[in-house]
Amino acid sequence: MPSARKTSSGPRSGLIFGDLWEFDPAPETADPKLKARYDLFIGGRFVRPRSGRTFDSINPANEAKLAEIALAGPADVDAAYRSAADAFKAWAALPGRERGKYLYRIARLLQDRAREFAVAETLDGGKPIRESRDFDVPMAAAHFFYHAGWADKLEYVAPGRIARPLGVVGQVIPWNFPLLMLAWKLAPALAMGNCVVLKPAETTSITALKFAEILQDAELPAGVVNFVTGAGETGAAVMGHPSAAKVAFTGSTEVGKAIMRQLAGTDRKMTMELGGKAANIVFDDAPIDQAVEGIVNGIFFNQGHVCCAGSRLLVHEPVAGQVISKLRNRIRVLRVGDPLDKNTDLGAINSREQLGRIRRLVASGVREGALMYQPPCRLPERGYYFPPTLFTRVTQSHRIAREEIFGPVLSILTFRTVDEAIEKANNTPYGLSAGVWTDKGSRILRMSTELKAGVVWANTFNKFDPSSPFGGYRESGFGREGGRQGLLDYAHLA
Ligand code: NAP
Ligand code: MG
Repeated sequence: MPSARKTSSGPRSGLIFGDLWEFDPAPETADPKLKARYDLFIGGRFVRPRSGRTFDSINPANEAKLAEIALAGPADVDAAYRSAADAFKAWAALPGRERGKYLYRIARLLQDRAREFAVAETLDGGKPIRESRDFDVPMAAAHFFYHAGWADKLEYVAPGRIARPLGVVGQVIPWNFPLLMLAWKLAPALAMGNCVVLKPAETTSITALKFAEILQDAELPAGVVNFVTGAGETGAAVMGHPSAAKVAFTGSTEVGKAIMRQLAGTDRKMTMELGGKAANIVFDDAPIDQAVEGIVNGIFFNQGHVCCAGSRLLVHEPVAGQVISKLRNRIRVLRVGDPLDKNTDLGAINSREQLGRIRRLVASGVREGALMYQPPCRLPERGYYFPPTLFTRVTQSHRIAREEIFGPVLSILTFRTVDEAIEKANNTPYGLSAGVWTDKGSRILRMSTELKAGVVWANTFNKFDPSSPFGGYRESGFGREGGRQGLLDYAHLA
């Protein structure tokens, strides 16, 4: 239990408990073992970029520079694809149980270095250490374990058919779950026998490059996995490379559409995991306290930088007053501040750019007439922070009800009937996830059939498992990650 002392000086930076209690700092102290400079990982080795260029990765919690990262130009991306193509034949020909051994080894090595990776992830991306320690890193390892288990059972992936690898796969991932998105992408591709060229997001490349050290320790054959770092241009080069058999992208709908336009007319296989604006729906017969915890988890987990965040709360009118009042009380005790502190609930916003986007959308909410509530909370002076925010009196036409904010901001709407809830929930171009809170099993079944979302959680939110496929409808993308379905997206069926 964190120790707390009473203070008469009111709220202090990031350590608020009501207005009365201040928590002692509880910093995580494990050494993240960062290097001052990271090169590209191509052909099993760290190599200087041919582009001759680098960029800085910073810590969003205090704006300090963490490391210098190589910037991959077109020649570097080309070299990565060549090394992956060279490795493909032998990797694909390995018996599945041999590939499985590598995946097990990778999972174990990641577990061995879990604390170090958690600290590195928190430093580079700003998420609370509690989340990187208890969610990101263990889930990343779990994905490798799960897919290790599949590697020697591929004849059961599509009974009666023969599943074969596609070749070299190009992958681009976002900054909200850097290591976990890397695991979601790599593990199924490798289990199936593909080779990979992957680009992490510009603001969060460090754990991918640390992960390359694990691949070396696991003695994964050179070229099976290659990491090229850089920004959007590097991403476009990875997605557009002529020798990619498939591209897998996770990121915004806008960039996903640009990639699809870029690849229109080619026979490239694609999967797209894009944005979301999930409805979290609370009925009057729901267990209200449990629902409030689920709402808080749904929108404030990872500062709301979650594609499937429950960012639109739909509350049944008879309980709206009660739910909103409990939510206001609950978010008063959320602690915002140093992500490395084990008591922190909301860490830093990932980048200055993202903070600007959140501020602009929040300002539009106020301008358009919604009512904003933020608890009293003094934010650290340096770094990028945003307080937990609730909006009531939101209508469906407000930008904050339609656009993905990707921050700790909840838009609250109400409804009277089940049909109205379904109609409002589906009134979005997205369709990634949804939540339903009710005591009635029959209502859960009906809602999960009628909600146009890839995943519908009932009386819970943000639950993940490697065996459970995740993905979207409509502008949230296509293709699945996790489970048998996720593996099939990396296979050619004969
Ligand atoms: P983003 O701007 O689309 O970036 C995603 C990745 O694409 C980054 O690595 C980015 O590089 C790269 N990129 C940028 N322009 C590119 C281009 N023209 N061609 C190829 N790659 C390009 O999205 P983000 O802001 O990082 O991430 C937030 C978005 O991801 C949200 O919309 C969220 O909903 C979505 N997301 C979806 C899922 C899902 O499973 N559906 C999961 C997580 C996140 P740089 O960052 O280096 O510029
Ligand atoms: Mg960073």
